[in-house]
Amino acid sequence: MLNLILFGPPGAGKGTQSDKIKEHFDLVHLSTGDIFRYNIKNNTELGQTAKGYMDKGELVPDAVTIKMLESEVDKHRDGNGFIFDGFPRTVAQAEALDKFLATKQTEISKMVALEVEDEELKQRLLERGKTSGRPDDQDKNIIKNRIAEYNRKTAPLKTYYKNQNKFTAVDGMGTIDEITERLITAIDQ
Ligand code: AMP
Repeated sequence: MLNLILFGPPGAGKGTQSDKIKEHFDLVHLSTGDIFRYNIKNNTELGQTAKGYMDKGELVPDAVTIKMLESEVDKHRDGNGFIFDGFPRTVAQAEALDKFLATKQTEISKMVALEVEDEELKQRLLERGKTSGRPDDQDKNIIKNRIAEYNRKTAPLKTYYKNQNKFTAVDGMGTIDEITERLITAIDQ
């Protein structure tokens, strides 16, 4: 199996690039943000829990997120592998994912990290907010909080995967196609 983590701060282009990479390598794309939004739209219990955190730009608690992710993985056991987008976001989530995949006799193959400057991120998110309908993309303070959460809780995962020799950084500035090419090259290496 090829199990990839597409990593990067909010606005780095993880969702856009996940769609391309999923097609290229024939993977199942799991975006925890998309799953939470689906649950909010359908007003499930999980959606109601997640909304309170998402509206503030905070991370949803690990226990809730890990349980949801594991049940999604279990729904797609027969594929070539997964592209995880927006998960893991904390060291506790990464540890849980490692343990969970080990029980399935598989593991993370690689983390590919999109690198984009902070100013560019804020601009991209505000631009996306005009069309995405996402409330968390439309408010400067929420955006600031999401980037702060990323720097505080999520960025340390680079070290986590570097220590496993699974980390690769990719320049996330440029056209969508240029970045896809760079990602495919990095994944193939
Ligand atoms: P995203 O679509 O990846 O930008 O995620 C939107 C929001 O969903 C985040 O700001 C968090 O509130 C929540 N979220 C998504 N994935 C996770 C995760 N792995 N852990 C905790 N919260 C998450």
